[in-house]
Amino acid sequence: MTTFESLNLSPLILTALGNKGYMKPTEVQAKSIPVVLSGRDIFGSAQTGTGKTAAFALPLLQLMNDSRNNHHAVRTLVLAPTRELALQIEESFRDYGKNTGLKCTVIYGGVSQYKQTSDIRRGVDIIIATPGRLLDLMNQGHVNLSTVEFLVLDEADRMLDMGFIDDIKRIISKVPRNRQTLFFCATPTPAIRKLASSLLRSPEFVEVRPASHDKILVNESVYFVEGGNKNDLLCHLVRQHSILQALVFTRTRRGADRLVKSLAGKGIKAQAIHGEKSQGNRQRALADFKSRKFPLLVATDVASRGIDVKELSHVFNFDIPDQADSYVHRIGRTGRAGVSGIAISFCSSGERGLLRNIHRYTGKNIPVIEHTFHSKPAGENNQTQFIQKQRFGQNHQRDSKFTPDRFKKDHSYKPGERKFAGKDRKVFYK
Ligand code: AMP
Repeated sequence: MTTFESLNLSPLILTALGNKGYMKPTEVQAKSIPVVLSGRDIFGSAQTGTGKTAAFALPLLQLMNDSRNNHHAVRTLVLAPTRELALQIEESFRDYGKNTGLKCTVIYGGVSQYKQTSDIRRGVDIIIATPGRLLDLMNQGHVNLSTVEFLVLDEADRMLDMGFIDDIKRIISKVPRNRQTLFFCATPTPAIRKLASSLLRSPEFVEVRPASHDKILVNESVYFVEGGNKNDLLCHLVRQHSILQALVFTRTRRGADRLVKSLAGKGIKAQAIHGEKSQGNRQRALADFKSRKFPLLVATDVASRGIDVKELSHVFNFDIPDQADSYVHRIGRTGRAGVSGIAISFCSSGERGLLRNIHRYTGKNIPVIEHTFHSKPAGENNQTQFIQKQRFGQNHQRDSKFTPDRFKKDHSYKPGERKFAGKDRKVFYK
């Protein structure tokens, strides 16, 4: 069995890992650490949740510590797609490297640049940055990358999706060619391979399948439910399963805000994080969520990148994501580092095409839970529903507890109290 000790990490780093409670390396760590320590480039295909951050941070800290120069000129540059992920990576570098005396800072937009530029002026060994703000500071003459020895691109596929390709090329053109490059992505698409081959020199390929698809760490299910009933179904499930901490994904910022408001009306505390919220606001909400001050954090895809909540029990896809790979990223927020989790998706009739894309992408059908709000796509007759049940086969399960009576009890609804526009609801509450 591979241990951290057998990977030749220095006692300074081993002590920090002991404090974090890490017992043994994850697969991506066991595969990557020796390669990085040997000085080779890496083309890694691994999701967040696999322990990827430590897979590059640990050996880089070790290499920098072994060849210290005390100048605090930038030696490692890590590029990441979002502020949250950049902050997460910085925290990891700080935790793992706390006994080494190496200095790091994080650079991202949406906040004043004052602290970032003064950190750089004082001298840092490691910069973790999102591309836009870094380029901005470079153009203003605050950052000099000519001393960089180690370059990491984390979640490179997401950076391409977010349109950062030109910024990345401009940044990397200022990094010496004589460097070690570690390139990580979730899915190695042709565009990613092309970018990787332009940046890497005879890389070692490290592939780690997402933990959620290795072993059944994430218990996935889908509820067919129309948009108007999704709020009620979410409240029902939160209450029925006494959920204390769940991340809820919506497709749009407005959708996230609307959901938070509607949950508040039903007595469930939630906060939203999305691109329109200030960075301070997002960080506060995330910190309060992590310390369990409220149970539901509603997020859009972009804001969710890098969210790492220890032992998060539930992820809800309130909306089915447009991109199939976002589904894997979203559910990967739970079932992390060997702890199992539950991922529940709500799929309206208009979203069934997106769900089929996810089935094709992951190569498996998500089990369907039948329930009282179970919806059929417009025009679907019994025949098609029968076919669908056959297609999902034994995956069909029942949520028999989600009955109108139960729901009325849960929410103290009185029969006839409200009028509902939807046909289904009229049936439920008349
Ligand atoms: P990452 O994939 O880097 O986002 O890491 C996912 C989670 O796994 C983080 O909460 C890490 O703190 C945790 N983690 C990373 N490596 C280990 C390890 N060897 N043992 C236990 N937990 C780990």
